[in-house]
Amino acid sequence: MAVCLLVCVSCGDDDNDSNVGNSEVAALKAVLLDDDGQIAFETTEASGVYKIGLLSLTDARSLVSLYAGDGFTGKTYTYTLANNKGAVQVVVGDNGVYYQIRFAVKGIPQFVLNLVDEGGNAFGMKHTCNVCGYQWISTINRCPRTGSRSYHP
Ligand SMILES: [Zn+2]
Repeated sequence: MAVCLLVCVSCGDDDNDSNVGNSEVAALKAVLLDDDGQIAFETTEASGVYKIGLLSLTDARSLVSLYAGDGFTGKTYTYTLANNKGAVQVVVGDNGVYYQIRFAVKGIPQFVLNLVDEGGNAFGMKHTCNVCGYQWISTINRCPRTGSRSYHP
């Protein structure tokens, strides 16, 4: 995982707080969930399916690597967390979806995230993160890579 995180050392989780799986879950929570513990992406009509608009395949792959680790090469891939903490399945998308990511991780609501191709969408409003420079379409008000709410325009 290429994610920086702060791990609480005294939370009293149900098992060993210092295990690798818990660290991996914490890293995912930091980028997937908002301050209220809810999934931080835009909902769709389908239950449990969320989406984010991205501008290029390169941007989509960058985001998948953040969620699924360096083992992801651009093809369908499953990232298995340590200590039986679940898995993140990445499927190559179609019909305007770069990738579909299926999160089944302990401690995070099970959900599907579609990375939607908005590269040619002149009507989409683009946000650029002030922390990491990542760009996404403005249906969510935080960077999907860092969680930062500092962006422009
Ligand atoms: Zn960012």
